[in-house]
Amino acid sequence: MASSWHNLRIDIDRLRADIETLSKIGRAPDGNLTRHAFAPGYEEARRWLKSRFAASGIAARDDAAGNTIGRVGPETGPTVMSGSHIDTVPDGGPLDGAFGVLAALEVARVIKEAGLSPPRGFEAVAFIDEEGRYLDCLGSKAVTGALDLARVAKAKAPDDALLVDAMRGAGFDPARLSEAKRKKGEIAAYVELHIEQGPVLEAKGLPIGIVTGIVGVDHSDFTFYGEPDHAGTTPMDLRKDAFTGACEFVSRMRKMILRRGTPYTRLTYGIVKSKSAAANIVPFEIYLKQELRDTDQKLVKRLVKASYKLADKVAAEYRLRVEYAHTTGNTAALMAPRVQDIVEDSAKSLNLPAHRMPSGAGHDAQVIARVADAGMIFVPSEGGRSHRRDEWTDWKLLEQGANVLLQSVLRLMHAA
Ligand SMILES: [Zn+2]
Repeated sequence: MASSWHNLRIDIDRLRADIETLSKIGRAPDGNLTRHAFAPGYEEARRWLKSRFAASGIAARDDAAGNTIGRVGPETGPTVMSGSHIDTVPDGGPLDGAFGVLAALEVARVIKEAGLSPPRGFEAVAFIDEEGRYLDCLGSKAVTGALDLARVAKAKAPDDALLVDAMRGAGFDPARLSEAKRKKGEIAAYVELHIEQGPVLEAKGLPIGIVTGIVGVDHSDFTFYGEPDHAGTTPMDLRKDAFTGACEFVSRMRKMILRRGTPYTRLTYGIVKSKSAAANIVPFEIYLKQELRDTDQKLVKRLVKASYKLADKVAAEYRLRVEYAHTTGNTAALMAPRVQDIVEDSAKSLNLPAHRMPSGAGHDAQVIARVADAGMIFVPSEGGRSHRRDEWTDWKLLEQGANVLLQSVLRLMHAA
């Protein structure tokens, strides 16, 4: 019997049709594809995804956090899980997250149609708000019980919309969020398929990446406060220019990262806002969102601490006041060697060369890794592009990645 499932393959035509359909849900007439968690476009995608499970006779449900879960095999007991997310960044691409969810759906269909009776269940999951419009990896954190409920109450989008309001608007009760937590041992193993979102696999000409670890991410807010004086009458040495101070801080942070970081350290100020709206007023309030990443969690912590210290120092030098706070983040996580080996075996069985590599992007897999053996499979990204409209991967490569996922899931379902 063992050999029967080794020959199973995904149906790329069916997967392709799903990818193409989902890429149109939430897309504006000008081509902008934005599906924020709990927004109307997202809820439409959720309904469509559930209809796709139903069309194949697969039971699907939404959990208390807003994750969508389809299950095949035994209805209770430990389950192998695969998933990703169907929310997008603003003006995002068609594959980030969506490919992993739809490939997991396809894997569930193949298992269902093959009439296998594996000892474990298989769940295909769309985790809510991976992109962190409200709270990074909200859905996978809820599943693992890693949510700080005090933070949930305050979590809000860049436009100040509250997470709790967004949840209620989509028919979910934030007070019941903790019910999404899965029991200890319920997730037997987790494997997530994702586009690389970087240039490494394409440059090496390899179809499959086996993720060894995922970077930790820290988000911190900084606000520099000065004085809104007249830009013409206030001499340079007497002004309290919040923008100049913020620039000095950012420039020194960059130098510090280059000196103290590793090749995997990343520092970004993706949101910069000024309260002033006139050319003739000294900038008096500058807001920065700082994002720091590295595969070494201790280093992330040290660098964040150093950034707070440097902000104090620069503020003093520029006679400003500064406020800073950690807002959200994800802990760096190593992928389970057992899952890495199974992915490698699966790729080998399909004659696909694979490359072990870290992930510079955050994923739900790093959250699930806290409670279960977790792994990730990457496929190349055309030009290394992601989080943009022209994010793409060749259909052949998507098919190969989905088949590695299928074989990895089957191995994990049958593993002792
Ligand atoms: Zn993603």
